[in-house]
Amino acid sequence: MIVSEIDIVIQKSNRKTVSIFIERDGSVSARVPEKLSDEEIRDILKAKEYQIFKNLAEWTQLNENAVEREYVNGQSFLYLGRNYRLKLVDEKLDGVQFKRNTFFLSKEDKHKAKELFIKFYKDKLNSKIYPIIERYKNQLGVEPNQVKVMELQNRWASCTPNGNVNFHWKCAMAPIDVLHYIVVHELSHLIHNNHTKAFWNEVDKILPKYDEQVNWLKINGVGMSL
Ligand SMILES: [Zn+2]
Repeated sequence: MIVSEIDIVIQKSNRKTVSIFIERDGSVSARVPEKLSDEEIRDILKAKEYQIFKNLAEWTQLNENAVEREYVNGQSFLYLGRNYRLKLVDEKLDGVQFKRNTFFLSKEDKHKAKELFIKFYKDKLNSKIYPIIERYKNQLGVEPNQVKVMELQNRWASCTPNGNVNFHWKCAMAPIDVLHYIVVHELSHLIHNNHTKAFWNEVDKILPKYDEQVNWLKINGVGMSL
């Protein structure tokens, strides 16, 4: 069925409501109660037109950002919020090198490229994160116990009950202002270990425009991968 120029696959089933799904391949399908006529279905979908367009736009954006990266010449990799291309070279290098806005990797290291990229991001984040923590810990009046850059599951940072703060090495892919936000967010958890209004007020006092960074992460977070 075509509604507002969108081809929607109709699946009738024994259900009470109409649900619209954007499938993995970006096609749109609607599950509808079997008793509805085509006319009724069309009216309902037409009324949900805005939602369908919004979901499609989100799907497109997520999928543009979800890049499957290969370790080949010309592939781009995120670093501090920008994409830079990889160049494989014959000479022997010490891991991944970043020079003149280009990543360099020795051809002979291609088989362990992912591991070397992770090391690159870990090293960079280790050198960037401490000055940022120094800057905000006094403003917030907190003292993290131990700070570590590591691999975390499904989150950018975490803190433990005894005040250890961990950052995912992927944070090195984010722009510096987003990195600042991630630090402020996590350090604020040392005051409020939750996401209550009081917690967000703490973040807001330091970074009044933090919603911009939150949005950046929402849109680009999925692309912060290797
Ligand atoms: Zn949090």
